[in-house]
Amino acid sequence: MESPELSFTLVYIVFCLCFVFTPNEFRSAGLTIQNLFSSWLGSEDVAFIQYHVRRTSVTVLVHSALPLGYYLGMCVAVPEKNLGYIHQVSDSWRAFLLLSICLQLASWTLVIYWSRHHWHNHPISRSLQAHVQPPHSSWGAVAASINTEFRRIDKFATGAPGARVIVTDSWVLKCTTYHVHMALQDDCHVTVTESRQHHMSPDTASPAQILTMRVASINPAIRPFDIRLNSTEYADLREKLHAPIRNSANVVIHQTISELFLETFRAHVDLNQPYTLPTQQEIEPCIGCMQVPANTKLVRLCHTEEAFNVSDCQECFCRPMWCLSCLGRWFASRQDQQRPETWLSSTVPCPTCRAKFCILDVCVVR
Ligand SMILES: [Zn+2]
Ligand SMILES: [Zn+2]
Ligand SMILES: [Zn+2]
Repeated sequence: MESPELSFTLVYIVFCLCFVFTPNEFRSAGLTIQNLFSSWLGSEDVAFIQYHVRRTSVTVLVHSALPLGYYLGMCVAVPEKNLGYIHQVSDSWRAFLLLSICLQLASWTLVIYWSRHHWHNHPISRSLQAHVQPPHSSWGAVAASINTEFRRIDKFATGAPGARVIVTDSWVLKCTTYHVHMALQDDCHVTVTESRQHHMSPDTASPAQILTMRVASINPAIRPFDIRLNSTEYADLREKLHAPIRNSANVVIHQTISELFLETFRAHVDLNQPYTLPTQQEIEPCIGCMQVPANTKLVRLCHTEEAFNVSDCQECFCRPMWCLSCLGRWFASRQDQQRPETWLSSTVPCPTCRAKFCILDVCVVR
């Protein structure tokens, strides 16, 4: 199976995926549209709208050239196929070449159509035109307003380059590969539609909650769009976004790393074996919050599980006195707040007797 045809195909597919979705390695190597065409694109800070009109157009042209690039690459990589001689190649290759050329021509036609009358037909310009209302007299004025607000340093910006979210004094913007979504803050309402929780694990350094929000405008010409952000950035967003935020899915938004950690703590404790209370003993209310029964007991389990691992955990003889949330908060409060990646593996003293315990030693009382 070691044919040059197959190897080139695989390499080219990987290259295309990386080029279109640009993982960090490609980004740091400078292999992005923004970097390759930087001199023509100009500066995003100086002219945000003009920059993105050019960027999206170049992106369409370059991405649509990828199939043609594959054919040309194949001509060089596998010369014995004689792909350079159109009349000799097989029907399927000819069809592929024809389709690639058509795709490239179509994208050029599209971009030329967009660019007519000072980019009047470009989708970004059309979004701007939909926003022409007092005080803005023309879509150029709307563009100027966005450009000016984008230049301010107090804007809210987050997200990966393929789905960047920017909130300025009066706009909500989302830059994607082929478009820039925009909505006037005064016109839009925002709904939290989904929340995904990522527990802390050896692979992810800190726990995260990703919120999905739908930005819908009362302006019928503006299509609703989704923005995604980390729950810890929610407070910053709220500071900049005056539009009401509805929480339709009753999502609990964890805004600090300690709150986020509680979910992880709970998930890990669930994996430990439960503790059965001796028959004569009764469960008392948690002495931390007095709201719920004390349902945790510290048992030195880590020692037995990994016998060859030296642990500095100690035996705790306290009866169950804390609920899981209070113990989790205590656990989080005793950690290095700057280094959440160390939290799972560290030990903290029992809040009552100061015997050291780790997350493996926390048992839920049954
Ligand atoms: Zn409690
Ligand atoms: Zn104790
Ligand atoms: Zn332990």
